[in-house]
Amino acid sequence: MTQLTEAQRGIITTIRDFVQKEVMPVASEREHADDYPFDFVERMKEFGLFGALIPEEYGGLGLDTTTYALIIEEICRGWMSLTGILNSHLIMAYMVVTNGTQEQKEHYLPRMATGELRGGVCITEPEAGSDVQAIQTRAVKDGDDYVINGRKMFVTNGRHGNTFIVITKTDPDAQPAHRGISAFICQKGPGFTVAQDIDKLGYKGVDTSELLFDDYRISASNLVGGEEGRGFYHIMSGLEVGRINVAARAVGVARIALERAIKYAQKRHTFGKPIAEHQAIQIMLANMATQVEAAHLMTIRAAEKKDRGERADLEAGMAKLFASEMCLQVSIDAMRIHGGYGYTKDMDVERYYRDAPLMIIGEGTNEIQQIVIARNLLSNYPSGDFLYESGL
Ligand SMILES: Cc1cc2nc3c(=O)[nH]c(=O)nc-3n(C[C@H](O)[C@H](O)[C@H](O)COP(=O)(O)OP(=O)(O)OC[C@H]3O[C@@H](n4cnc5c(N)ncnc54)[C@H](O)[C@@H]3O)c2cc1C
Repeated sequence: MTQLTEAQRGIITTIRDFVQKEVMPVASEREHADDYPFDFVERMKEFGLFGALIPEEYGGLGLDTTTYALIIEEICRGWMSLTGILNSHLIMAYMVVTNGTQEQKEHYLPRMATGELRGGVCITEPEAGSDVQAIQTRAVKDGDDYVINGRKMFVTNGRHGNTFIVITKTDPDAQPAHRGISAFICQKGPGFTVAQDIDKLGYKGVDTSELLFDDYRISASNLVGGEEGRGFYHIMSGLEVGRINVAARAVGVARIALERAIKYAQKRHTFGKPIAEHQAIQIMLANMATQVEAAHLMTIRAAEKKDRGERADLEAGMAKLFASEMCLQVSIDAMRIHGGYGYTKDMDVERYYRDAPLMIIGEGTNEIQQIVIARNLLSNYPSGDFLYESGL
């Protein structure tokens, strides 16, 4: 594990203070009210977080994935919804950084870095989620433009964002089907509107919407990378960062759930002593802490591998799978330790319990994650000793 530099420590400490002082005291109340956090968006702009993964030459902070993952952990200790606002936007920006034309980078990245342009990625459709190749949104070439028609489902930042990467079919007959998929950078305007906002179990405050494309016309210069048929690869590059982010979110939520459980267990008495002195509670706390630590280390290992410029889809997939299942378990154990009070809206643990399941679904469900992991193992490490072969 690499040592953090002064600069990395500095930014993580700043975000930790912000979360502790400004976010934590109000997060549950505002989440219950499904209150969009305009003020926190402004604060995150001030910290430069909308440019976290955008290179400095385009006005961003140019952070590495490891620092970014640690920042996400810190924010999730306060309120996971804030990281949705940030991360979907940064996946979009990352796709432009890694796949965009020079003109697209110069035009979009500086304004994405300030947060003037904010948004995310539109992949999922009402009839196509895990099976990305089954999307039906069509982009048809018309002179120097494309005309887009279709619906996109569950889009994070869908209501309050203004700019999105939209995944479409440019060649519905292509074989294999993914060669017919292309990505466009789209700004809201005539023909690109919000169809509905989606009410959710948790992860409230951040907007999740269905978006409608109805004869939406866009210049061909907005085709990501300037080449048709590359959209599926663009998604894959973005998902690697997305999965490390989801793993970091899960670690952040689980960390705070554990912190709350440890505090409560020392305060609450039954049978003449703090419940922390009952062995059943101690075993639960020990298992929770061990799982949180393991998930944290897996997340950082995946991020560090990515920062070394290596493919990290296997490690990112494993970190996301392990951390999200861990978070689900730790959040319910934290609630269990709080007894009846944990089931009330007065306690933050009920929020962690409602936020946790999103991580087993987002950025590819855990069932899909297992398929990705197995495919990677079989194709890249046929001996089975992937720890040795991937250079630890
Ligand atoms: C709050 C929230 C925010 C989101 N934000 C975004 C966003 O910003 N942009 C975006 O594009 N999408 C977003 N999504 C969508 C999310 O990525 C999808 O919900 C997810 O990919 C699953 O797709 P689905 O819901 O259509 O489920 P389905 O694909 O229909 O899957 C249903 C079930 O079948 C399982 N399954 C499917 N195929 C297989 C298989 N081959 N083998 C085994 N099991 C399988 C799945 O694991 C799941 O359990 C968001 C979703 C939520 C809930």
